[in-house]
Order: sequence, then structure tokens, then C-alpha cells
Amino acid sequence: MEILDKILDIIYPPFCGICGKGKNTFLCKKCEEKLKREAVWGKDQYEDKYFENHFYVFKYDGMIRNIILNYKFNEKSYLYKSFVNFLNKYQKKYLQFDFYDIIIPVPISKKRLKLRGYNQSLLIAKDLAVELNTKIINDILIKQKNNKPQSELNKISREQNVKDVYKLLNKDKIINKKILLIDDIYTTGSTVNECSKILKQAGAKKIDIYTLAKD
Ligand SMILES: [Zn+2]
Repeated sequence: MEILDKILDIIYPPFCGICGKGKNTFLCKKCEEKLKREAVWGKDQYEDKYFENHFYVFKYDGMIRNIILNYKFNEKSYLYKSFVNFLNKYQKKYLQFDFYDIIIPVPISKKRLKLRGYNQSLLIAKDLAVELNTKIINDILIKQKNNKPQSELNKISREQNVKDVYKLLNKDKIINKKILLIDDIYTTGSTVNECSKILKQAGAKKIDIYTLAKD
């Protein structure tokens, strides 16, 4: 983790990632207040999916959608630091997390990782793991194909698009485990459901989802 911290220090400039102002802070007071107003701290329960609960912080619309689209397409990784800063401050207070044996960030492909330099889900997972006193395992669920971005597809195509994209490397690490799976945006849930299916079929006990935003 130390190396990751060093890399993050280089990537992130010392100003508010959202408005670009402020000094030596990743999230200024003004933007923190804005995010506080936008946060919904939702929890949805499902019975027809491979996971049980879905926790999310924002609805994927308005200002939040604009910010996320901005960092997705302009690769402004430091915007994540602003969000993570916000999540660290409030997520434990507003979301009733269960106990988890492990946290798994939804993986991105090697190609994308090379282009972007980081996995945004891992950035969200990192501090949460410390807060929840659990560990991240990010080398067992692998994205083996570089599929089309889900955002370009409709619901049926999204389900097709994630088929056979992910594979599991070390089954024994997840057997009977309670897992919190982390992604940035939840739209139709196809990605997290596919990952949950793989984990569940390999023997995971329970899976919950945590995303920054829900469409
Ligand atoms: Zn700001």
C-alpha cells in the first residue's frame, strides 16, 4: 500500500478536485457541503440477484453525474480523492455496513489499468477496508477481456457484454466468506451481478455491493 500512497501523492494535486480551488485539501468546505446535500446514503435489498444489499452514496444525476463523467472521460484521477475524502468522513456514520471478511474492488482490464494507471474501485475500497477493519483482495477476480464500456449499451446488451469477461483465480480464498464488492457506478447492476454470480458459484457465503453512485 505504501507504493500506492506515493503514486497517489503524485497524481493528486493539492487542491479541491471538484472546483479546482482551495489549498492543500482535496475537498474544500464549499464542495463538501455541496456533496453533503447531494448524498442520499441509499440501501436497496434484492432477492432476485446474486448479491443481497446495495449501498450507495449518490444518485447518478445532476452535479454528481457531471463530476463523474468528467473524471471518467478526462482521466482526472484526483477527483476520486475528493470523493474518497468525503466518503471517509461520512460513510460509516450514514451506512449500516455488515461485517465483511473481504472487500473486492470490481477489476478493470490490464489494458485500461495501463492507460489510466489506477482502478477507481480500488481507490474507493482502500480507506473503507481500514475503516471496516477488513482486507482488500484484488488479485482473485480478474477482468480477462476488454469489453465495450457498459455506458454505451442498453440493458440486454449490458448483460451479454459482461458474460465471460471476469474470471476467478483463487477459489479457496472466498469460500464461505462475506464479501463487499465495490464499483463506482451502478446502472443496471449487470457488472456487479455477474461478478457476484462468479463469487457465489465458487462458494462465497454472502455478497453486498457498495457503489459511489446509483443510476
Ligand atoms: Zn471545492
